Amino acid sequence: MIDKVADWQLANAEPFPWRSAPHGFRDPYRVWIAEVMAQQTRLATVVPYFNRWIAALPSPRAVAQADEDRVLKLWEGLGYYQRALNIHRAAKQMVQRHRGQVPGTKEELLALPGIGRYTAGGILSLAFNQPEPAIDGNVVRLYSRLHKTPYTAQRKANLDTIDTHIRGLLAANPAVSPGLIAEGLMALGSKICKPVNPDCPNCPVREHCTTYLSDSSVRPAPSPGRNPVKSLSVRHHVGYVLLTVQGGQQRIFLVRNRRGGMLGGLWGFPALPVEELPADDVSAAAWIAQDQLRVAVGQVRHLGRQIQDYSHFRRLQDTYLAVCHDVDPATPRWEEGQWVPAGEIGDFALSRIDHKIAALLTANAETEACAN
Ligand code: SF4
Repeated sequence: MIDKVADWQLANAEPFPWRSAPHGFRDPYRVWIAEVMAQQTRLATVVPYFNRWIAALPSPRAVAQADEDRVLKLWEGLGYYQRALNIHRAAKQMVQRHRGQVPGTKEELLALPGIGRYTAGGILSLAFNQPEPAIDGNVVRLYSRLHKTPYTAQRKANLDTIDTHIRGLLAANPAVSPGLIAEGLMALGSKICKPVNPDCPNCPVREHCTTYLSDSSVRPAPSPGRNPVKSLSVRHHVGYVLLTVQGGQQRIFLVRNRRGGMLGGLWGFPALPVEELPADDVSAAAWIAQDQLRVAVGQVRHLGRQIQDYSHFRRLQDTYLAVCHDVDPATPRWEEGQWVPAGEIGDFALSRIDHKIAALLTANAETEACAN
């Protein structure tokens, strides 16, 4: 089986920018960044984000020296911002403990923030060509079908079983590149043994696949180990674009999300959780702003409803543009916030929902109309 995986990967490997050298000669820093970016995202999608990041921060030392806002801004669009903050923290530790290098042992890697079993395996196999399995969701699905057993990535015993199998293959075939096999198994899971409609007729390991061999009709194999689709719970928010004019300049109030929480460290427009708010209820929105944010608002206008799905819930937000006069320096009430010139919002790292709101402002020139 291992030869088939290796041959298939040699014939099908895509030339991504972090693959510019053979396994064992790749820059572990680039491999690390690519692996973290690629979690929950297709590799092809990662490329522009990766290039932007590497151009700005070409080494762990450069990451360590960058401030948090810059790191978040460079991560913008990838989601899961805690990962960017973990890279920042890990890079600082690499400078302190590893002379600014990505370390090359499992123990050292696992001691760094945000680097778990999968990422360590990816770095060690792909960059250092060590016989360490890199088991992502694609590999779990592939093995589920090979063994016709519903493995899941959440069960350590399942990961251990797959890990043992891959180590056994590598130990029995020391001439085969571990990096090539790690890459090949992940790519096979993603491109051939897909969640739905796996391409069994073109699968190089079908003769080793219990699911395929037990079903001579080659109908699409089931997707063992997948979690049943859950309907998302809905969380309602009311959001505000607070606008004031100071010294002839329009300013908008941006707040920073609390670190350690969801979207921690990112900036955005203030938003408050509410039970439910009928869309376009400007008087209720004005009252909530005055009561919760302690800011006196004048003209209020409904900007629109934003919908954003996260892994466990759907956020429904009605956002209002509210003009504030006579702003007191102590208001609005928020842990960390600042009045930002309207034209500088694009310099801040924003979440997807806040990007949608910023785009609305630009598209409709809402601030102009409202402030005049
Ligand atoms: S034969 Fe089909 S089910 Fe089996 S590993 Fe290949 S693609 Fe997946």
